[in-house]
Amino acid sequence: MAEAYENNNFIHNAIDKDLEEGNCYEDILTRFPPEPNGYLHIGHAKSICLNFTTAAKYGGKCNLRYDDTNPVKEDMEYVNSIEEDVKWLGFTWANRLWASDYFDEMYECAVKLIKDGKAYVCDLTPEQIKEYRGTLKEPGKESPYRNRSIEENLALFEDMKAGKYADGEKVLRAKIDMASPNINMRDPIIYRIAHATHHNTGDKWCIYPMYDFAHPIEDAIEKITHSICTLEFEDHRPLYDWVLEAVGKWEKPPRQIEFARLNLTNTIMSKRYLKALVDDGIVDGWDDPRMPTIAGIRRRGYTPEAVRDFCERIGVAKANSTVEADLLDACVREDLKTKVENRNVVENPIKIIITNYPEDQTEMMEIENSREVPEMGNRQIPFSRELYVDGDDFMEVPVKKYFRLFPGNEVRFKGAYFITCNEVVKNEDGSIKELLCTYDPETRSGSGFEGRKVKGTIHWVDAKTAVKIRIRNYDYLMIEDENGEQVMNPDSLVETVGYAEPSIGEAKAGERFQFFRKGYYIADSELTTDTEKVFNKIVGLKSSWKKK
Ligand code: ATP
Ligand code: MG
Repeated sequence: MAEAYENNNFIHNAIDKDLEEGNCYEDILTRFPPEPNGYLHIGHAKSICLNFTTAAKYGGKCNLRYDDTNPVKEDMEYVNSIEEDVKWLGFTWANRLWASDYFDEMYECAVKLIKDGKAYVCDLTPEQIKEYRGTLKEPGKESPYRNRSIEENLALFEDMKAGKYADGEKVLRAKIDMASPNINMRDPIIYRIAHATHHNTGDKWCIYPMYDFAHPIEDAIEKITHSICTLEFEDHRPLYDWVLEAVGKWEKPPRQIEFARLNLTNTIMSKRYLKALVDDGIVDGWDDPRMPTIAGIRRRGYTPEAVRDFCERIGVAKANSTVEADLLDACVREDLKTKVENRNVVENPIKIIITNYPEDQTEMMEIENSREVPEMGNRQIPFSRELYVDGDDFMEVPVKKYFRLFPGNEVRFKGAYFITCNEVVKNEDGSIKELLCTYDPETRSGSGFEGRKVKGTIHWVDAKTAVKIRIRNYDYLMIEDENGEQVMNPDSLVETVGYAEPSIGEAKAGERFQFFRKGYYIADSELTTDTEKVFNKIVGLKSSWKKK
């Protein structure tokens, strides 16, 4: 898989070519440029993996650069979360930088464009600018301010900087081509007025560079060789190149390469939308285990290895597509399969009384810790007259092909004995109180019993020593309604009660297990205490995709 991905990676091909032709510096340098206005999501993980692994492939480096050209208050919570997430994914940035540190240099670049007759101050209102821009079918119309003299433009830009004008009163525009078929090239705005305090530069500036002007300059200053971004910037590339050419002071300007952004089914991936879910209290914070944020999937129990594997498997493409959320689950399963030990846990428990088993006896049964990895060894768990089985492992009236417990049927209790269900005892309200069963002492696991075969094997826990736990079962955050619209899934969190074998009482926050026959679980990092164990279901053992 990795091989195919390597060969198909058009980004690597482009870099190879640039190196061969001497179009870029020898030291390959990429950057991951988040805007610190929210937590990172799995889409960002794709960008992070791509930028860091691409640089690594060439023995190069990757910068973490905060794209903070908007004068908003810096939110340290977001900055800290971004760094924690990048580190968690296993990457180390070469430099941590702020785009706003380049404001002086960007300003100098703008002045140079004015001096070269390549930029002008425009007084049109935002509505007029929009109107003059034209459409895809019609060319734009030149601004009446387009032919101001260089001296006038320099003076006006100086005045903009000095705070003589209100927000929106004037802008600085690149003088390119109002008839260009690419609307981005129709005299784009490169500086705007915003009387706002910036977290880094305070009140020094009341003019701020636009993304399309700032980004190529940031890249060039850092000597980024390849500026990898998502496909919606493809139409902006001519402007990216124009800015670098017009400023003209870099020996080997960076090259922008676009790839398709990651879209996932059954979730939403926009910081703005995710922030609304948090602000409206629809989820329990940015790290709610149902969120597609890196913080959310970390708390959910996904591993960085699985996320990186996922990013590699989906590969990089030039066309947008939507990836099944189920593929990410498959990567998680694949990773955890050989890493975590089994434990017996039953959910919606049903009590079992083994009527022919001695009242005061407890036997220790030896059970393997992992089917996949024998080196993980065995453990001992208690077995006695009263046990619990999982609610799903009993049916009073079995459906066809049901081989688990039902009246009159014999099954194997994994690691213990063959057990036959003889009688169902009910409560007054008709619910099941307990099942009266018998065991066959001959059939003890490991005794070499070669007698009759049974079709079903189920797991169990000893009632006396069972540890009561809370289990949080997650489903997709979004589902399709009958009209095919994505809506919030009302059942995205269902909490149940579980009974676990004794060692679960010692589980530490963040510890992962396979609950035998059920799936992979992690002790929740925030809710688990010394006395109460709360587990998140990370993922089931099999894909549940077909059901949905
Ligand atoms: P959002 O729309 O979710 O707010 P954004 O693109 O505005 O995302 P930035 O902080 O600007 O967020 O993104 C940092 C980097 O991550 C950018 O290079 C961007 O292209 C990339 N990125 C964002 N979303 C995705 C995605 N779904 N798939 C791949 N890369 C992404
Ligand atoms: Mg953005």
